[in-house]
Amino acid sequence: MDGIKRYFADHVWMVDGWHLDVAIDIDASGHFVALVPRSERGDRDYLGRWVVPGVPNLHSHAFQRAMAGLAERRGHLGGHEQDSFWTWREVMYAFAQVVEPESLQAIAAQLYLEMLEAGYTHVCEFHYLHHAPNGKPYADPAAMSRALLAAADEVGIGITLLPVLYMSGGFDGRPLSERQQRFRCDVDQYLRLLETVEQACGPRHNAGLCFHSLRAVPEASMRAVLEASLAPRPVHIHVAEQQAEVLECVAVRGARPVQWLLNNMPLDERWSLIHATHVDADEIAGMARQGVVAGLCPSTEGNLGDGLFPLEQFMKVGGRFGIGSDSHVSVSPTEELRWLEYGQRLVSQRRNIAFSTNRSTGEALLTYAIGGGAQASGASIGWFEEADVDAYTQGSRADLIVLDETAPALVARDKPAVIDSWLFSGNRSAIRHVMVGGEWRVREGLHPQRLRIAQRYADTVSALKG
Ligand SMILES: [Zn+2]
Repeated sequence: MDGIKRYFADHVWMVDGWHLDVAIDIDASGHFVALVPRSERGDRDYLGRWVVPGVPNLHSHAFQRAMAGLAERRGHLGGHEQDSFWTWREVMYAFAQVVEPESLQAIAAQLYLEMLEAGYTHVCEFHYLHHAPNGKPYADPAAMSRALLAAADEVGIGITLLPVLYMSGGFDGRPLSERQQRFRCDVDQYLRLLETVEQACGPRHNAGLCFHSLRAVPEASMRAVLEASLAPRPVHIHVAEQQAEVLECVAVRGARPVQWLLNNMPLDERWSLIHATHVDADEIAGMARQGVVAGLCPSTEGNLGDGLFPLEQFMKVGGRFGIGSDSHVSVSPTEELRWLEYGQRLVSQRRNIAFSTNRSTGEALLTYAIGGGAQASGASIGWFEEADVDAYTQGSRADLIVLDETAPALVARDKPAVIDSWLFSGNRSAIRHVMVGGEWRVREGLHPQRLRIAQRYADTVSALKG
């Protein structure tokens, strides 16, 4: 039992519900060896009353953390009668011009620290800011990717880095605008970047394929990347976020975006369709049938006025989903899950829309967020898996959250109400400790590096303002 850390919790939330008196063994590499219910505490370190798995964040553009709140004024750029996703995008492009590797690391470290304190233990970073502001590759073409990996390591969060293939400015294949030059890669450059990123991956890192969107990647290039990259990796793509994009796709490619993917691409469990907001019944059924993950980002989708994903219909046909904080107008799994449910309640004028057999609404939402997020990451994270009737083991990374049983939201709560009370009761954090890869990243609600990282973030954002 060399190097094994031995813990004990009163209750651990497994894929089949709460288990009592759980002994938890974690090996020196930060992976679970065993979780055994109905154990004696003995001399094990006590974690607390309520332990749940860490929550994966399946969609992030880290640099956007520093522009949250800068696009909330009508007609911000002038000339636009109605603000929309497309006017927001102009603000985002302006901001994206000024971020460089050092400032990206400072912003991402602040963001990832906030994620850890909120209960996210892994992030899928959808990364398209590849080149220098003049559009030329850096001396190290992976400089921006390395900045993201370094930021994740600084604070100890797990990361799936998804370098993005971004080639054209629309479905008609028009070239990228001047402000999109930083994103540009051809297929060969892209594959080289992916290889470099994979070589740079350390513990708690992995890499995946990523197509910005159907409007930004021609069909032949998607095929070329998929054929050249045979290793089993996650595949992410933005899709059907906006009605305009759906109409353009129908006009140019003869099908709605998700339908086009279903007809033309080898969709399977590796794929995450980010947003997939505008989908019809056939597309919903197709996504569920192929086992893809719908990557839902309710706070950003609300902020951008994207529309509402048909959650209830999707769950009815067995669809899988996870959550992402995307533009980081909110960095909180509880807020994402609340918004996901409340959006549905507001349009249907009913309550408790998310469902799963024998689960409360909060339990159903969190179950999907953990399972779908883990699937989207392609990393060995997520549920504490059942090995047999008595033990939960396997080699997955030891990520967990210890909830604060003394938080007002959780005092005097019993098993059936704990998850719902965490997700649907107030805004004071009920997170006490967070572990990633067997190491404590957050203790008593706080990350130990928070002052240093916040100061560097403040200096960085002030400098960017100039
Ligand atoms: Zn996005």
